[in-house]
Order: sequence, then structure tokens, then C-alpha cells
Amino acid sequence: MPERINVNGVLAAPESASVSPLDRGFLFGDGVYETIRAYGGRPFLLREHLERLQRSAERLEIPYERAVVDIEQEVHRTLGDADLPDAAIRIVLTRGRGPVGYDPEGCGPPTLVIHVRPCPVLPPSFVREGVDVAIVEVTRNARSALDPAIKSSNLLNNFLAWRAARRLGAFEPILLNAAGRLTEGASSNLFVARSGRLLTPPLEDGLLEGITRGVVLELARADGLDAGEASLAADDLRTGDEAFLTSTLKGVLPIRRCDGWPIQHGRPGTITRRLIALFDARVQAETKTGSAPGSMRR
Ligand code: PMP
Repeated sequence: MPERINVNGVLAAPESASVSPLDRGFLFGDGVYETIRAYGGRPFLLREHLERLQRSAERLEIPYERAVVDIEQEVHRTLGDADLPDAAIRIVLTRGRGPVGYDPEGCGPPTLVIHVRPCPVLPPSFVREGVDVAIVEVTRNARSALDPAIKSSNLLNNFLAWRAARRLGAFEPILLNAAGRLTEGASSNLFVARSGRLLTPPLEDGLLEGITRGVVLELARADGLDAGEASLAADDLRTGDEAFLTSTLKGVLPIRRCDGWPIQHGRPGTITRRLIALFDARVQAETKTGSAPGSMRR
């Protein structure tokens, strides 16, 4: 049973799982979510993801504690039922069903959906050679409109950016904020190496505090690199020495070109390759898997 969906504790195959058409997640995108990766049957950094899910829910006043099942327990149960060593786990928590209209009075309990599927694999050339990104015209949601730090199910901003990038032949968009500063990708964080320093945009510029981003910052510093947050302009990326994306499903993914221009020589640099190795080692250490995530990302 490779793909399983758990709706409020009821396990089913994807074709028979269902959520009400009156669910606020469906009507308004009124929900929060997480994507977690399991290596060798073990979810990586599950606690960190569940804490972020709870923080996102709190920002939207979705009552996390009123979920009808224990979320962590259900993640393990669904993963066990799917029996997939390398899985992508998506948890969605919505405000639940209620009367149509914005008033949340009478809504709930929250709907919890856990979807376990085989982990999508990237072509090995993406990890070896890097991917192309494009700085798109779609700007990132302003923090004052819908703070990107809230991992909400309302993903049209990300989707429109992703579509713009694909139309330009790029794998991932890079979004600027309204002030023209770099923020992040549609489903990834951004790192740029310049003059021996490793930089990533600060949360104040409007982006998700990625869990992989946090691990990479920690690994880079522990390795003696000068790594930290800095507000960046588009040209800082285009003329950077190295650049890469980070995310749960992408790991550390080198950027080869931005807007058609090669980053440095268009080959992953030493800092990027070092961090791919350190990240893979961290995953192995935590999940006790025999194979590194880079080698699994076929
Ligand atoms: N930014 C956005 C908008 C994302 O959707 C994701 C993927 N969750 C990320 C960054 C990377 O976050 P993480 O490392 O926690 O997967």
C-alpha cells in the first residue's frame, strides 16, 4: 500500500479519502500544512515540523489542540501503514467544516489530513550540476498581507510564481518582496555565497523560516563558515560566487543559472558541495540510514 491518506484518524487509499466541500481549507485555503521527509521509515526532524505547524496554526487561531486525534501518533501510524522507507509526508490542518462565510464561529473541529507517498526523486543531474532559477515578476506576499512565515494552505502566491518560472524554462522561481529584496523560492529557501560568506535573506524580508535553512546555517557555522542572514538584491544572486536552494524535499540543491546567466562558472562550488555532504551526513546520523539523501535523490 504505497500511498495512504489519513483523514481525522481514518486511513484510506487516496481514491477513497474525502474531506467535506464545506471545509474551510477547501473554501478559503483556511489551513496550515507541513511537508516532512522520512528516510528509512524515520521522519526527519518531525518535532521541528510539528512545532512549526503549531506556530502556523496559532498565528491563524486554528485550534491545534482541538484536533480529534494525536497528530504525531497518526503520522507514525500512517507511515507504518504505507510501509514506505523513503516517503514524503504532508500534514494539513484546517479550521474544519462550518457555515459558509468568514465568521469562524461554529467551525470545527479542525480537519487533520496526513498524506504519505513515495518521496519524489530529483534527477541526479540536478544535484550534480544544479538547477536554473528565474527571478519572477510575481512578488512574495507582504508580511502585512499574509505573512510567508505562516505555512498556510493558501498557496496561490507560490503557485503563480512557480508557473511564471516554468514559462521561463526555470525549475524554481525566486520571489522578490515589494521593496525589491530577495525572499525565497516557491517551495524553497535561498542561499548565496559571496566573497567567502554564506548569506540567506532575513525573516524580516518576508519568507518561511525553513527547517532545512536552519540546519544548513547551523552546519555551516559549525564547519567554520561565516554564515548568516543578510538582505539581498537580485544582483547579489546573479553575481554571486555560488547559490543554492534548500527544502525538505530538495535537500541542498545547487543553482546553476539565474535568469539564464551562469552563477560563477555554472557549476556547484566548494561551499555548496561541502554543505550537501554535511547535510547528507546529518540525515544519516539522525535517521541511521545506510544511504545518503543525495544518492537517493535519483
Ligand atoms: N519556503 C517555502 C515557501 C516553502 O514552501 C518551503 C517548503 N516547505 C521552504 C521555504 C523550505 O522549508 P523546509 O526546509 O522547512 O522544507
